[in-house]
Amino acid sequence: MQHFPIFLAVAGRRIVLSGGADAAMAKLRLLMKTEAKLTVIAADVAPEIQRWATQDKLTIINRAMQPGDALCAALFYAANEDDAEDARVAAIANAEGALINIVDNLADSQFITPAIVDRDPVTVAIGTEGAAPVLARAIKADLEARLPQSLGALARIGKTFRHAVDVLPMGRKRRNFWSSFYFGAGPKAFEEKGAAAIVPTLETLLDQQIMATDTAGHVDLVGAGPGDPELLTLKARNALDKADVVIHDRLVTPGILELARREAIIIDAGKEGFGPSMAQSDIDALIVEHAQNGHHVVRLKAGDPTVFGRLDEEIEALEAADVRYRIIPGITAASAAVANIGQSLTKRNRNSSVRLITGHDTKGYADHDWKALAAPGEVAAIYMGKKSARFIQGRLLMHGANPATPVTIIENVSRADQRIIATTLVELEPTMSNAGLTGPAITFYGLAPRDAAAQSLTLKEFA
Ligand code: SAH
Repeated sequence: MQHFPIFLAVAGRRIVLSGGADAAMAKLRLLMKTEAKLTVIAADVAPEIQRWATQDKLTIINRAMQPGDALCAALFYAANEDDAEDARVAAIANAEGALINIVDNLADSQFITPAIVDRDPVTVAIGTEGAAPVLARAIKADLEARLPQSLGALARIGKTFRHAVDVLPMGRKRRNFWSSFYFGAGPKAFEEKGAAAIVPTLETLLDQQIMATDTAGHVDLVGAGPGDPELLTLKARNALDKADVVIHDRLVTPGILELARREAIIIDAGKEGFGPSMAQSDIDALIVEHAQNGHHVVRLKAGDPTVFGRLDEEIEALEAADVRYRIIPGITAASAAVANIGQSLTKRNRNSSVRLITGHDTKGYADHDWKALAAPGEVAAIYMGKKSARFIQGRLLMHGANPATPVTIIENVSRADQRIIATTLVELEPTMSNAGLTGPAITFYGLAPRDAAAQSLTLKEFA
């Protein structure tokens, strides 16, 4: 991050702008939303700016900028649309201690002005460090459509009501109160009856929350999908948005944890196959303990929690402790991986069933119905199959599987560093070992990537 976003207190402070034409006007339109004292310095000033001066929105100094003009200014804008003149005035302002921005000159600017969504006092600033103005505009348009116009009024009136809400205990009750105000009853009351209806709405909501007795915690057992945050379900996102505590697996990506409520406590209960781990019983106890403290706990598991997720152990612990829970499914690694090789898990006339199997279980390498799997056309998605590749290969060949059966290894499914390695059963080892996998990987037995070109390339690479 080369630019750190902050909100600068400018009420009553000087902001000076050099320039009097279009670029100046564009910046002034934004700056006039603030309570800063604006000074425009230019020999030629557009009539529009002159009109603003007559409305006391700014002061004009009707000449070219001179030393002394930017004294005590918090911010300075060079908006002359003339590189030489902008450099001259920026040097003066810089010497006089103002932070400078030169319009359309990122490299020489000390700060940049973001795209702004204005629901004062709620403001959203969007910046791309100059990389993608189109993107900033698209995000702005999206937010403009999404945030109700009444949001500013709701926030302003809500602020005056904050002290009244002190009667509610900190935490969930208060959050419930504000979230139903801002996203439910508030906008509705405003739309139907106008600003006058807001305070009565606040009062009603407060009464309802005071009367609400439910302070028991609960647990959402949530599937985080394979890694790409866009593969989260909306339910999962909403749960993350409301969580007090998030307890996650090692495979849950930072991009997904970013979506957790800012105040949420994030606990890494990472467990690694064969490696050091937090004991499942400790994880169970941790989940129960936080829920019993009245928290909304999100137990976040990679992929789908019902697939090799040790979900039942956690459910049993919750049931034993009488804690409410619900399961929010996620996209399992096999679903995301098969999509990324352009194949189907099942296909007419090829395989009418698919197995999700694990390479190892608590007792070591896992045994399966190898004979059935060895039949032509069978498909299996092998989870946790890195270390067990040679074992699986051996068992299948022993039971008569065709050595040329396609096998595809997909590492880091749906993440930026996803890798697809196409091979065959007979080549599975040493291909797996030679690939030097560092991320989670799923192996498809019986499926090749649809894209034949990619197949021969990766085969060459890893053969
Ligand atoms: N509940 C998870 C599976 C947990 S077991 C799910 O539904 O996906 C852990 C195994 O899942 C890993 O060893 C790997 O085989 C697979 N896995 C999970 N995330 C993956 C990813 N992003 N890419 C490839 N494999 C993944």
